[in-house]
Amino acid sequence: MLTFTALPAFNDNYIWLIQDTQRQLCAAVDPGDAQPVLDWLADHPQWQLTDILVTHYHHDHIGGVSTLKEATQAKVTGPARETIPSLDLPVDEGMHIDLLGHTVQVFAVPGHTLGHVAYFCNSSNNQPWLLSGDTLFAGGCGRMFEGHPEQMYASLSRLAALPDDTLVYCTHEYTLSNLLFAQAVEPSNQDIQQRLDTVRQLRAEQRITLPSYIALEKRTNPFLRCEDPIVIRAAEEKSQIKPTQNYEVFATLRSWKDTF
Ligand SMILES: [Zn+2]
Repeated sequence: MLTFTALPAFNDNYIWLIQDTQRQLCAAVDPGDAQPVLDWLADHPQWQLTDILVTHYHHDHIGGVSTLKEATQAKVTGPARETIPSLDLPVDEGMHIDLLGHTVQVFAVPGHTLGHVAYFCNSSNNQPWLLSGDTLFAGGCGRMFEGHPEQMYASLSRLAALPDDTLVYCTHEYTLSNLLFAQAVEPSNQDIQQRLDTVRQLRAEQRITLPSYIALEKRTNPFLRCEDPIVIRAAEEKSQIKPTQNYEVFATLRSWKDTF
């Protein structure tokens, strides 16, 4: 049985600590800063960090990798197409890795960066889970720094096709601002309104809004709703161009959100 703990880092990052509570082994995901993980390990001296997983090369995801590797000798797994410090196991589309005794699938999800990978686990004794990095956020998606809309839309659609109960562990606390944008796109969507109320309350108490799950994202995340007539209409009004492809709807939403 694996459990997840969010270690806050910087302003709005989370470093997920995946824990095998039976064996007291753990893995850190995208440690942009080593200190929160080192502090946790110091507070839990029986525990051993065996793995570091990286989704993409941005500094707020890799800044702590080398320090942690040196301190713990944990194995570093990360995208083969990007430069990751202290990388032991380069991974790419279609690979399966072992993480704390569980089989994890690697998806290439280009768009935010070109080499970005996501990690998905659907082993029988756990609810399925996804480490989506900066690709799929709760209520939104990452900025498209390197890819093009067709590519990033394909990446997001693939994640949206995962089982409805898949838990989504992304790496930033952006949910509130994402949902404010979602509401601007679909003012009449009751699921968005309801989620916004919940998230506002959580943030007022300075609590985390994650993880999310795929079914909730499909109901409330505009970037996964580019086939919905209301979303298409909103994109058309914004761009004044009639979209002929879903990824064109996505492209309009993404650039709209960039300046929202
Ligand atoms: Zn990033």
